[in-house]
Amino acid sequence: MKCYECGGVLVQTKGLVRMTKKDGGLILFKEVPLSQCQQCGEQYIQGNWSEKIGLMMSHENELVPQEILSVPVVSMS
Ligand SMILES: [Zn+2]
Repeated sequence: MKCYECGGVLVQTKGLVRMTKKDGGLILFKEVPLSQCQQCGEQYIQGNWSEKIGLMMSHENELVPQEILSVPVVSMS
């Protein structure tokens, strides 16, 4: 498999996937198996993990987070 953006080589890694809840809030899934492009950094969720996350997001009210982060936000305006 190659990067759809630039055709670069993908390496297997794990990382954060950021999703948006129905109320506009963010939710992060960590340790998700990802393929990352060595060239442009584009990340692709591996195999059926995107389905799995999609399924979990459709039951977002039942998700029990293991940790709560406070995230710094920088405004450019
Ligand atoms: Zn790429």
